[in-house]
Amino acid sequence: MNNNKPTMIRRPPTVVCYICGREYGTKSISIHEPQCLKKWHTENNLLSKELRRQEPKKPEVRAISAKGFYDLDALNEAAWTSAQSQLVPCNVCGRTFLPDRLIVHQRSCKPKAAK
Ligand SMILES: [Zn+2]
Ligand SMILES: [Zn+2]
Repeated sequence: MNNNKPTMIRRPPTVVCYICGREYGTKSISIHEPQCLKKWHTENNLLSKELRRQEPKKPEVRAISAKGFYDLDALNEAAWTSAQSQLVPCNVCGRTFLPDRLIVHQRSCKPKAAK
C-alpha cells in the first residue's frame, strides 16, 4: 500500500497589515492591527493639516475564494494597496513617503535650480 503523502513545504501564511503594509503571522496580525491603528492616529494627529490622511479602511475582500480556502493573496494585495494609499507624494520629486519620512526627506530634497 502506497502511503506516501506528497510533502508540501509551505511558508507559514502571513497577512499584510492594511495600515503599515508590513507582514505579520495570522495570529499576530489581530494583535498588531489595533495597535497599529492607534499608533497611526497618534502620528496623524501630530502632522500638519496638509499631511493628515483619511483613516485607512480595512479592505473588504471575499475571504473565501471559489476554491473554498482563505484567499490570502487577494486579501494581502488589497491590504498592500490600502497601505500604499497612506503614502504622501513629495511635492518636489514626486516620490511617495510616509508623512514622518516625508518631513525628513523634504529637508534634503531641493528642487533643481531652474536655469
Ligand atoms: Zn501595521
Ligand atoms: Zn522629494
